[in-house]
Amino acid sequence: MSNCAIVGINWGDEGKGRMVDLISSDYDVVVRYQGGGNAGHTVINEYGKFALHLLPSGIFREGVVSVIGNGVAVDPESIMKEIEYVRSKGVKLTPDNLKISSRASLLLPWHKELDCLEEQRLADKKYGSTKQGIAPFYSDKYQKKTVLAGELFDAKAFFEHLEGIMEWKNLTIEKVYGAEPTTLDQLKEWYDLYCIPLMPFIGDLDDFYDDCEKKEKNILFEAQLGSLRDIDFGIHPYTTSSSTIAAYAPIGAGAPYMKLDEVIGVVKAYSTCVGEGPFTSEWFGEEADKLREAGGEYGAKTGRPRRVGSFDVVATRYGVKKQGATAVALTKLDVLSYMEQIPVCTKYLVKGSKTDKFPFPSLLDQAQPVTEYLPGWGCDISGIRRFEDLPQAAQDYVLYIEKAIGCYIKYVSVGPERESIIIR
Ligand code: GDP
Repeated sequence: MSNCAIVGINWGDEGKGRMVDLISSDYDVVVRYQGGGNAGHTVINEYGKFALHLLPSGIFREGVVSVIGNGVAVDPESIMKEIEYVRSKGVKLTPDNLKISSRASLLLPWHKELDCLEEQRLADKKYGSTKQGIAPFYSDKYQKKTVLAGELFDAKAFFEHLEGIMEWKNLTIEKVYGAEPTTLDQLKEWYDLYCIPLMPFIGDLDDFYDDCEKKEKNILFEAQLGSLRDIDFGIHPYTTSSSTIAAYAPIGAGAPYMKLDEVIGVVKAYSTCVGEGPFTSEWFGEEADKLREAGGEYGAKTGRPRRVGSFDVVATRYGVKKQGATAVALTKLDVLSYMEQIPVCTKYLVKGSKTDKFPFPSLLDQAQPVTEYLPGWGCDISGIRRFEDLPQAAQDYVLYIEKAIGCYIKYVSVGPERESIIIR
C-alpha cells in the first residue's frame, strides 16, 4: 500500500488536476478531501477537456475508485450537474467508481446566496469569493448548522433538522441582508432535483477503507487550491475556508489513521493568483498580458483573468515546507519559451530589509520583490520528453528553482496533455 497526496504549493491553479490525471494510473483510489466547487481542475484526456470542480480527477481512469471525503463541501446541485456532464461525454460513473462519504456536510441552497450577499455588502473591500458558498458553508459546518449527507436517507428526520437550520438562517438572510427568506418548498424542490439522484453514491466509507488496507490498495489524495490559500497558513484573510495542507488529507478523506508515503507539491514555472490579496511578484501592463495569454491564465470556474507574475522563491519555499512535499511537479515550463530573460523573485524587501522568509500575512502588503534574471531558451520545448534533451537554459532554470526551494523536482510538465511530461 502506498499513499500519496498531490497538493498545490502556491495560490492554486498550479496544474494539480493534470498531475492527478497523469499519476492516477498507479493508484486504485483517488480521494478529494477538502474544499468545494469553488475552483476548477482542468483535465485534458481522450474524453475531451474538462473543468472539474467537485469530482476527483481520477474519474476518467478505468478501475480507479473516486471518493469525495468528509472534509469536502458537498453541493448536491453542483455534483449532480457535473456527474451528468461527465457522463454525457462517455465516462462511466456509477456508485462502484464514485463514493461520497455519508459524513460529508451538505452545502445548502442559502450558502451561495449568502456568499453573494456578503460580497455585495463588502463592495470594494470584497475578498474575491467565487460565490460558490464555500465560506458560509464552512462557518456553518463549524457551528454545527449543516446536515450530513448520510441524513438524506431518512427524509422525515432530514427535513426536521433542515427546517430548524432554515429558520435560524432566515434570521440572517432577512434581518442582516434584507433579502428574501428560503422556504420549505424551495428546499423540497432542491431535495427532489439534486439530493435524491445523489443518494446512490453516498455511504459509510469505513468498510471501503478497511478493504483498501486489506488489499494493499494505493490511495491518491487530491487537494484543491494551494498552501497560500490554506485557512491556517495562508495569506489570511484572503484564504479559502478549509485546509489545503497534505497533513489534513487523511482526516478530510475519512481515514485519519492513514500515513502519507509521498507528497507531490505542484508548482507552476511562474506565478498566478486568482482573486484578491497580496501577490508580491505580480506583473502589470503589457508584460503581464503577454504571460497571461501565453499561459491561457483564465479561471477554470469563473473565466476571470488570473493575475500573473514571476516565479516566487520565497512563497514557494514556504509552501513546500508547509506541505511537507517529498517531490515537486513543475508545470507549464513550455509557457516561458517566448521570454529572452526570465525574471525570478528571489527575496522580499520588507521594511527596508531583504528577507527570504515568507512574512506574516499583515506584512505582505509592504513586501516588494527582489528580482534576478535567468537566461531564456527561446524555442518550443513542448515535444521534449527527456530532461537532458531540454535546452541547457531550460535545464538550468529547473535546477535553479530546485535548489532555491529545497525540494527535488521529479516531474517537469511541458504541455497540458497527459503525455506532455518529463519524469526525472
Ligand atoms: P489546478 O486547479 O491546479 O488543477 O489547475 P488549473 O486546471 O486551474 O490550471 C492549470 C491549467 O494549465 C489548465 O488549463 C491545464 O490544462 C494547463 N496546464 C497544466 N500543465 C500544463 C503545462 O505543462 N503546460 C501548459 N501549456 N499548460 C498546462
